Amino acid sequence: MDQRTHIKSLLPAELETVLQEMGEPKYRAKQIFRWLHLGVTSFDEMSDLSKNLRAKLEERFCLTVPQILRKQVSAKDGTIKYLFGLEDGNSIESVLMKYEHGYSICISTQAGCKMGCVFCASFDPAKSRNLTAAEIIDEIIFAQKDSGVRISNIVLMGTGEPLDNYTNVRQFLRLVTHPDGLNIGMRHISLSTCGLVPMIDELAKDKLQLTLSISLHAPNSELRSQLMPVNRRYDLSLLMAACKRYFKATGRRISFEYAMIGGVNDTALCADQLVRLLKGFPCHVNLIPLNHTEGSPLKPSKRDDLRKFQDKLLRNGINATVRRTLGSDISASCGQLRRQVQNEVKE
Ligand code: SAH
Repeated sequence: MDQRTHIKSLLPAELETVLQEMGEPKYRAKQIFRWLHLGVTSFDEMSDLSKNLRAKLEERFCLTVPQILRKQVSAKDGTIKYLFGLEDGNSIESVLMKYEHGYSICISTQAGCKMGCVFCASFDPAKSRNLTAAEIIDEIIFAQKDSGVRISNIVLMGTGEPLDNYTNVRQFLRLVTHPDGLNIGMRHISLSTCGLVPMIDELAKDKLQLTLSISLHAPNSELRSQLMPVNRRYDLSLLMAACKRYFKATGRRISFEYAMIGGVNDTALCADQLVRLLKGFPCHVNLIPLNHTEGSPLKPSKRDDLRKFQDKLLRNGINATVRRTLGSDISASCGQLRRQVQNEVKE
C-alpha cells in the first residue's frame, strides 16, 4: 500500500508548514486546499501551480481518488447510494439523500465495523480499518462531484463507529467545516455512536456544535446487551451518565436512535421503561423502523405498534419522531450494498 501521507488529510495551516519546508510560499496552501476539495483527480489538474511544485507534491503525497464501484439511484425518491473502492481494495458505502432543506449525505468512518450489533449489516471485523480523514471527506467530495448537487448536511451513520476512529474523525470535522473547503457548518453535522463512554467524554471536551446521536435501541441494560455487545462493556447506566455529562458540557440536546424491532423492543413495557429512562432529559428520540437484513430473524415493528410506542413517548413529553425510510428499493441502509456486492463476488 502507498505509504505517502494522504494530502487531503491536511488542513491549510498544515499544508503551509510543509510548503515552507519545501521552500515554497505559504499562500500556495490555500490554492492547493481549494483544488483538493473540488475533487481534482491528479496534481496536474492544479493548473495555477508550477510543474515543478506539482511534481514535488506528487513525490511526497498520495492524492486519494475513490473509484465509484457501484451507483444505485432510487426510482422512488432519488436517493443515491455509492459504493466507493479505496486504494487498498476495501470498499465503503455512502448514501446521498434529498430532504426539503437540501441534500444530506450519510458517510462511513471505517471499512467494516467491529462493534457487532446483531441487527446491523456493517459488522465485518476482518475488513475493519480506520478510514483516514482524506478518505472520509472524499465520500462527500466525490458524491458531490458525481451528482452535481451541493451537499449541506452530513450524518456520520454509515459503516463504522466514528468514536472508535475519533482522531481521524476529528480531523475530518476540521477539514469539512473549513471556510476554504466545503465549509459545512458544524450544526449541519450529526455524529452517531453505539456508546463508547470514554470517547463521549472526549467529544464533550471539544465542545462542538454538532448533534450527537446515541444508538440506544433498548430501554434496559439486559436487552441492550443482547442487541449490542458494547453494552456489556459500558452499560446503560454508564451511557446515560455520559449523556448527561455531555449535555452539561455542551448544552447540546442529544438525539437517541431507536430501531423498532417487532416483539423485541417495541412492547408497551419497553415504552414505559424508555419513558422512565428519558423523562426530563432534553433529547429527541428517533424511531427507525428496522431495516430487515437478509438472513436475520429480526423483523420491523408493525405499524400499529410503532404508532402506540411513539404516542406513549409523546404523551409523556418526550419528543419522538418516526424516521422516513429513503432508498428502500436500493438496499440503501446500513452496509447492505457492500454486503450484497461481497456476496456476489463470493458466488
Ligand atoms: N456505529 C455508529 C454509527 C453507524 S450505524 C452507531 O452505532 O451509532 C447508524 C445507525 O443505524 C445506528 O443507530 C445503528 O444502530 C442503526 N442501524 C444499524 N442497522 C440497522 C437496521 N438494520 N435497521 C435500523 N437501523 C439500523
